Amino acid sequence: MIFNLEKSSNQHISLPTEFGVELYIKREDKIHPHISGNKYRKLKYNLIEAEKLGFKTLLTFGGAYSNHITAVASVGAEFGFKTIGVIRGEELTDKIKDNPTLTFAQSCGMQFKFVSRSDYREKASKDFINSLKEEFGTFYLIPEGGTNTLAIKGCEEILTETDKNFDYVCCAVGTGGTISGLIKSSNQNQKILGFPALKGAFLTKDISKFVIKNNWELIVDYHFGGYAKINTELVTFINQFKKEHHIPLDPVYTGKMMYGIIDMITKNKFPKGSKILAIHTGGLQGIEGMNMRLKEKKLPLIK
Ligand SMILES: *Cc1c(COP(=O)(O)O)cnc(C)c1O
Repeated sequence: MIFNLEKSSNQHISLPTEFGVELYIKREDKIHPHISGNKYRKLKYNLIEAEKLGFKTLLTFGGAYSNHITAVASVGAEFGFKTIGVIRGEELTDKIKDNPTLTFAQSCGMQFKFVSRSDYREKASKDFINSLKEEFGTFYLIPEGGTNTLAIKGCEEILTETDKNFDYVCCAVGTGGTISGLIKSSNQNQKILGFPALKGAFLTKDISKFVIKNNWELIVDYHFGGYAKINTELVTFINQFKKEHHIPLDPVYTGKMMYGIIDMITKNKFPKGSKILAIHTGGLQGIEGMNMRLKEKKLPLIK
């Protein structure tokens, strides 16, 4: 077992004292060398369920740089499941070698099915799932991004008893599964702030489906133009943060969240004396693929 849950400790981030707040980061990125911390949390009870029901194969969906695809491929290899990744983008069929995420997933034994963007949009439909069953036989289905009830149960285990001392808990938001788990396990007097990594008005509704508490809020100002969209300002921030605090951030999720937290602290958006906990959900495997794209555009790279 190579999950090191004990490595996920809270690390203090030193800030100028005049900001008047305390910031810590929970190093969920350290749980596993390839699997984003929150993806491990989201898969845990799904793997137990798949095993209990006797499934030998996991099937899931994702984009070509997806942390979730990496995670499913990796746990499949580790726990003895066959894995199938339905990947958005037919044009990638003969380009696996140029993509570090897909190359890694393939080395874990994941089998791919590349589909057009329009087919990908139909991925949750009964017809599409049935055609996948005809092609691959029976499988345990994990939705895109891994969010379902069992995933949220796993994410409820991110916060520990001592984390109840924090006034704010911050996390990056993709599909909303991780923040839902955090909200469920939070104290009512804590506030959970989600930083969406994409433009998505649907997120509030999605999260509300899973939680009944109202001690949470989405901070929608830091998506940098949309999912996986970045600019030189964000790259500069990620590099500077690593230099100062020796903590790597990923460009799709945690970089944007931390940029947002620091910006809000600088603008005095948190009351003086606040104790803030940011969740480092991982995602570091995505840096290599992002750097390849930055290099093509002759933009500064993530160090
Ligand atoms: C997937 C992911 C998220 C978003 O998690 P959701 O549960 O989909 O909201 C955040 N951070 C990282 C690093 C991720 O890989």
